[in-house]
Amino acid sequence: MLTERVWSGNSLRNFHYLIACPETGEALAVDPLEWRLCLEAARRRGWEIRQILNTHEHTDHTGGNAGLRSATRATVLAHAGAAAKIGGIDRGLEKGDLIRVGRTVELECLDTPGHTMTHVCLYAHTDQPALFCGDTLFNAGAGNCHNGGDPQRLYETFVTQLARLPDETRVYPGHEYLARNLEFTLDREPGNEAAAQHLGTARHHDPAAAEVTTLAVEKRINTFLRLQSPAVIARLREAFPDLPEHPDARTVFVKLRELRNRW
Ligand SMILES: [Zn+2]
Ligand SMILES: [Zn+2]
Repeated sequence: MLTERVWSGNSLRNFHYLIACPETGEALAVDPLEWRLCLEAARRRGWEIRQILNTHEHTDHTGGNAGLRSATRATVLAHAGAAAKIGGIDRGLEKGDLIRVGRTVELECLDTPGHTMTHVCLYAHTDQPALFCGDTLFNAGAGNCHNGGDPQRLYETFVTQLARLPDETRVYPGHEYLARNLEFTLDREPGNEAAAQHLGTARHHDPAAAEVTTLAVEKRINTFLRLQSPAVIARLREAFPDLPEHPDARTVFVKLRELRNRW
């Protein structure tokens, strides 16, 4: 499997991805909002975009479908429940579906509600696995639930699906928010040295060359994967004095998400 991350350069800080078969050069584009940039990247690599996949229905992920489709005649894939909202979907996806790219690439569709209720992530069972996670998991953060989402469901997606993937899984989110999210981590857990180290680099990085994290790294720097941390819990109880001494992980997650909303 070949992967190219395409930085949008826009104010929403979108990341797009091309996933290609090394034997045939056929490629799938994930959330290609700035579709011309995706097309250029594919041409540079000698790839042909045959499929477009939307992780979810928000227009900052689907807005490039029409342009890229008319340029490539690619088929468009999205969560079956999002198809009517997006329009022009050729294949509705369900949990466990396999998406083939060329001869060699197989991606598993994960049904990952929370940011919206019809959100998919793609999981590649490659030597070093890869997760294309849209607006569910961000580098050092979690998606918001303002536009059709539910923090309880996002918690369940994190705990029962994403956190259980192998530690070496590479994390490819839909936006570049690393520095801002690390600042939140440090606000919640000021002694987190790994987060401080990553922030030192992320503050001045070129987003096009931003670090690709793994789940192992995320478990150190992402507050939403550190729900058992005594430091996170102690500080959370300062903000929410009614919390018990040993709150359950679900409560910690939902309260963190609430704080992040107004942070
Ligand atoms: Zn979104
Ligand atoms: Zn988005």
